[in-house]
Amino acid sequence: MRYDAPDWDGAVAALRAADEVAIACHVNPDGDALGSLFAASLGLVRLGKKTYPSWGSSPAAIPFSYRFLPGAHGLVQPDEIPETDTFLAVDCGAGNRLGDLEERAKRSATLINVDHHPGNDDFGTHNIVVTHVSSTAELVTRLLQDLNVEIDKDIATCLYTGLVTDTGRFQYSNSSPDTLRLAADLVALGVPATEIATEVFESSPFGYLKLVGRVLDRAVLFEDVRFVYSWLTLSDLAETGVALDETDKLIDAVRSTRAADVAALFKEQPDGRYRVSMRSKGPSVGEIARKRAGGGHELAAGFTAEDVEQTVIELREEMKVLEP
Ligand code: 5GP
Ligand code: MN
Repeated sequence: MRYDAPDWDGAVAALRAADEVAIACHVNPDGDALGSLFAASLGLVRLGKKTYPSWGSSPAAIPFSYRFLPGAHGLVQPDEIPETDTFLAVDCGAGNRLGDLEERAKRSATLINVDHHPGNDDFGTHNIVVTHVSSTAELVTRLLQDLNVEIDKDIATCLYTGLVTDTGRFQYSNSSPDTLRLAADLVALGVPATEIATEVFESSPFGYLKLVGRVLDRAVLFEDVRFVYSWLTLSDLAETGVALDETDKLIDAVRSTRAADVAALFKEQPDGRYRVSMRSKGPSVGEIARKRAGGGHELAAGFTAEDVEQTVIELREEMKVLEP
C-alpha cells in the first residue's frame, strides 16, 4: 500500500486482473487529466490490456496544446466505450466530473477513483484519493510502478505534462521535494521538457494575444477585499478566433497582480452560463466553489454560475469574511 490509501492494493490487483479497462478523466480536461489518462492507458496497454481512454463530453476532442501527448491517437469517443468490468477514473474530484460517463462508470463492477482533490466524494468501489500530492499524474506513476510497468519515454512524457501543468511549472505550493524528484527522474528518461513547455504554454493562436488584451483591459479590482475578476464571452472567442478549450491558462494572467489575493475569471459557455475559474494566494477558494456545486483545491477551484454581476456581488461579500 502507498500513501495511506487503504484501497491501493485492491486497485493494483484489480488492474492487474483486468483484460480491458475503460479510462476517463474529467470533462474540460487539463494537462493533469490528459497526462494521467494517456499515461495510464499506455501503461496498461504495455501489460497487454485493451484500453478505452476518453472523457464524458461529446465529442471528446483534445485541446490543441495537448495534441502532442503520446497515446493521444488512442482517444475513443465516450459513446464508443463498451461495457467493461473495470473502469478507471483519473483526476475527477467528484463523480459528476465524469460528465456523460458518470452512469456508465458506476455500472462497472470495479470503479477505481484515482484523484488528488480535497472533498472527493469517493464515488468508486476503490478510492485512491491523496490530497497532498501535486497531481493525479504522481499517483498514476506509482500505480504503474506497482504494476511493474516500465516507464518509458512516452509514458514519462504524459506524466511530466501532468506534473508541470498542475504545479504551474513547479511554482505552486503543491510542488514538493517528491514532485521535483519525480520530475527529475522523468526528465532523465528522455522527456522533452522544453518541447512540452512550448506546446503547452506557447502554442496559442495569434488571436489569443488579443483575447488576453480584452480580458485584462476589462479586469475589475476590489481593493478592499483584494479580489480581481474579469470575464470573456462567446463573442470574444468568435472575434479573436480562440477556442473555449484554449482559455485554460487565461486565469494566470488575471491572478498576476500583487493588488489581489483572489482572482476569478468568468467564461461564457455555449449554454449561456459561465464557468468560473478561481485562484488564490492564501484564502480558500475551494470552499467557495464547493458551496456552488463546483470543487477543486484550496488555492485553485472552479464552479458554474448563472451570471457575472450577481455572482461577483456574492463573492465580494464572501471575501470580506475569508481567512487570509
Ligand atoms: P480550472 O479553474 O482550471 O477549470 O479548475 C481549477 C481546479 O478546480 C481543477 O483542479 C479542477 O479540476 C477543479 N474544478 C473546476 N471546476 C470544477 C467543478 O465544477 N467541480 C469540481 N469538483 N472541480 C472543479
Ligand atoms: Mn489534477
